[in-house]
Amino acid sequence: MNYSEVTLNKGKETSPLRFHPWIFSGAIAKKDATLEEGTLVEAYSSTKQYVGTGYFANGSIAIRLISFKEVTIDEHFWFEKLNKAYTYRKQLLIFNEHTNVYRLFFGEGDGASGLILDYYNGHVVFQSHSWGIYLQKDNIISAIKKVLGDDLKSIYDKSAETLPKQFTDKVQNAYLFGSEEDVLVKENDHTFKIDFIRGQKTGFFVDQRESRQLLAKYCQDKMVLNTFSYTGGFSVYACAAGAKTVHSVDVSKTAIELCNKNIELNDFTNHTGYAEDTFDFLKDKKNIYDVIILDPPAFAKSRDSKHNAVIGYKRLNAMALKLIKPNGLLFTFSCSGVVDKNLFFNTITAAAIEARRNVKVIHYLSQPADHPVIPYFPEGEYLKGMVLWVE
Ligand code: SAH
Repeated sequence: MNYSEVTLNKGKETSPLRFHPWIFSGAIAKKDATLEEGTLVEAYSSTKQYVGTGYFANGSIAIRLISFKEVTIDEHFWFEKLNKAYTYRKQLLIFNEHTNVYRLFFGEGDGASGLILDYYNGHVVFQSHSWGIYLQKDNIISAIKKVLGDDLKSIYDKSAETLPKQFTDKVQNAYLFGSEEDVLVKENDHTFKIDFIRGQKTGFFVDQRESRQLLAKYCQDKMVLNTFSYTGGFSVYACAAGAKTVHSVDVSKTAIELCNKNIELNDFTNHTGYAEDTFDFLKDKKNIYDVIILDPPAFAKSRDSKHNAVIGYKRLNAMALKLIKPNGLLFTFSCSGVVDKNLFFNTITAAAIEARRNVKVIHYLSQPADHPVIPYFPEGEYLKGMVLWVE
């Protein structure tokens, strides 16, 4: 035994033995009463069978397992984990001569709940969503350096906004390696400026790379509206694909400024950005757009808000479906994990019925392979989308 022992209630080992990494507080029969947030623990069944190693948290998810084999959690452990994540992406050609921006590590999908690493042309943003991961920071940083070698230019810790509330004022976002410089990346040969210090999340929505590429296929000579545009990922692809006009809408002025900058960087002139609320913007836009993208932020962050989220998705999609030009295309997404695929698709159906438009589903979309979904952990699937042909 390497770490403090936690015994599970009878039968509660079944789920972790099937590689589900979460152990809920109700599953615990016995633990050291003084266990502190983030401490490494080993979980055992009621019959003393080893189940896994992870870290403890005060909350409904009490243990997040990061290994199903008895191990020491040290620099070598993290090197192996990160190297596996890196090799997987390399083999799948996620990064290549056209693309140097990708998610290097995706929480449970890569075997460590709470750890997110995004790679921006040599610059890595480290984002810890739990104190247990934060306590492993030094080991993780050493591992990143070893995995990326000379290719690494900087590591920026952006955990202050993602750690549980009681820890957010204990930490500050800061460079852990290297220093601030302009960061330009290439995604499918399109250039984007990344501002992970001031931008939302880790600076860029890396998860829409494949859907942006798909959009490009349908944009030539079209009037395109990209709502919730953020830094203009979809807009840049649409302009490049020969759209007649592209409009981007985001409620954040900063986002529109970043979006305009990305349009300029790629030398396009057929684009206008609007710092407006999408729902207001859509009100008087009937029969203008051939292609509309709806990629809102997560309307539901917890199960309690699921119902309201569904109402929000339905309202938004019905609005867009009512005003899109005949034979138009709607790209619609949801990144709320608690709204699953079926619920989202049913909600879009309801919106189409309300809009009285005849639609055909021409694509089902999901998150790309650098945001891996593992079957043992279905909760990791969060991004889903559809492309609808609207008669
Ligand atoms: N599609 C983007 C990512 C969208 S993130 C991409 O590919 O990069 C969601 C964006 O929605 C954020 O930039 C946020 O500022 C914006 N947003 C949130 N509420 C909004 C609203 N009501 N109207 C317009 N934009 C909104």
